Order: sequence, then structure tokens, then C-alpha cells
Amino acid sequence: MSLKKKVLITGASRGIGRSILEAFSDENSFLIGTATSKVGLDAIQNFLSKNKIEGKALILDLGKEESINNFFTTLKDNDLYPDILINNAGITRDNIFLRMKDEEWSEVLDIHLNSQFKIIKNLIRPMLKKKYGRIVNLSSAAAAIGNKGQANYVAAKSGIEAMSKTLAREFGLKNITINCVAPGFIETDMTKSLEENYKEEIASQIPLQRFGRPEEVADLIKFLTSSEADYITGQTIHINGGLFM
Ligand code: NAP
Repeated sequence: MSLKKKVLITGASRGIGRSILEAFSDENSFLIGTATSKVGLDAIQNFLSKNKIEGKALILDLGKEESINNFFTTLKDNDLYPDILINNAGITRDNIFLRMKDEEWSEVLDIHLNSQFKIIKNLIRPMLKKKYGRIVNLSSAAAAIGNKGQANYVAAKSGIEAMSKTLAREFGLKNITINCVAPGFIETDMTKSLEENYKEEIASQIPLQRFGRPEEVADLIKFLTSSEADYITGQTIHINGGLFM
């Protein structure tokens, strides 16, 4: 029987998810990374093959019910239920509140909050059986301080934090910890589209005077799933260079 821990990372094709994949690349882990497209799938698979890491790349589009159901079936059929689950995948559909369309609101709520509910609901039973599970859900500093143009995103991330606290209470008895990591501004595709001037203005307000790197977030997530963090649950850990204290 393999002693490797199965680590599932949603949205592992790029950005923070890709760095999480890299952070967990060791002989103790079997990595399962997801992407929405063949391009992303190949990026994950190539990384695993090149570095001789045991694992699998799977398609998962959290905006499509069929894709979610196929994903669950694949995990079940291939005995890929994770010991460590990182709910990382995410999108933004920013708009000021008065212009925000119903679809922009629902898409962000669906892909962040509703799909995290579905994923945890489907994957927690094997953790309960094993009496072991580590879940880290990606939130955002925006959930704590609010952010103009992101009513949808902030509502979703706040919901994730509140859900995580409740699950930490429900599943603590079974040695399952559930925490959130809330990054500030991190250098990924998600922040790439921000105007250069705006980025400089934000960086000047951050005590550490820069955006964070995805690998810095990944290291924190890895710590939260390690034995050194066995007594941490129900928390939201902020990583933002001091932007929010
Ligand atoms: P990113 O670079 O834009 O990458 C997003 C990842 O999510 C990609 O792997 C993407 O897969 C996947 N994804 C997108 N839509 C999806 C869908 N419908 N179904 C399943 N997967 C989907 O984002 P990031 O900056 O790394 O963000 C990662 C997480 O950190 C998110 O939850 C985000 O809200 C949170 N966060 C980020 C920042 C920041 O400053 N970057 C700050 C706070 C919180 P494809 O490659 O297939 O599209």
C-alpha cells in the first residue's frame, strides 16, 4: 500500500495553483492537478513527467455541472480521493455594483463558493473514514477589507471563510482540519490586467512595498497541511505583505 499522500489542487495549470503543485512535488505526495482546458492539462502533465513526480492531470471546469460530475466519477473510479485538498481555482468578473450583471454575480458565486461546497461534500467521506484530512480553501484579503468592483468576489470569499469555520467545527473530531489562506495582491494572471499606475499605487501602500509571489502563498499552504500545523483549524491566514493587518 502506498504511503504517499494524495494531494488535489484545483486550478493547478498556472498562477498560485501551479506554485502549489511545485511546492508539493516530493516523494511523499501523489499530485492531482486540474485545469479547464487541454492546454492547462498538458502544462500540468508535462511538469509532472519532466520532474518525475507521481500524479495525474484532470479536466475540471467548475462552471459546468457535467464537468464536475465527470471529475468526481474519475476520482472514484481511479481511487484518487485526496488526503489533502486545496480549493484554489478561481476567477474574477469585476464590475461596479450598479453595473454588475446577474451573470457576473452568479458565475463568481458558483465557481468559488458553490463549487467548493460540492467538492468538499463529495470528497470528505473518505477523509472521515481515514480519520485524516487537510483542506485549504483560497480566500482573499478583499473578503476582510472589501474592494470596489468586487461585490461578487468578496461575497464568495467571505462565504468560503464562514463555511470553512463551520466545517472545522463539524469535522475536527475526525482529525480533519479546514483553513483558509487569504492572499493580498499576488503576481499572477489574475492581477496582470491591472493598470501599471494602479499597481504602483497599491505597492506603495503595502508595507513590504511589492506584490507577493505565488510561491510564497504556496509555501504557506504547504505548511498548513504539514504535521507542524496539526493543531491549526478554522483559521484564515492572511498573506499580503502587511496590506491588511
Ligand atoms: P489565475 O492565475 O487566474 O489562475 C486561475 C486558475 O484557476 C487556473 O489554473 C485556471 O485554470 C483555474 N480556473 C479558472 N476558471 C476555472 C473554472 N471555471 N473551473 C476550474 N478551474 C478554473 O489565478 P490565481 O491568481 O492563481 O488565483 C488562485 C486563487 O487565489 C483564486 O481562488 C483567487 O481568487 C485567489 N486569490 C488570488 C489573488 C491574486 O492576487 N492573484 C489574491 C487573492 C486571492 P485554466 O488555466 O484552465 O484556466
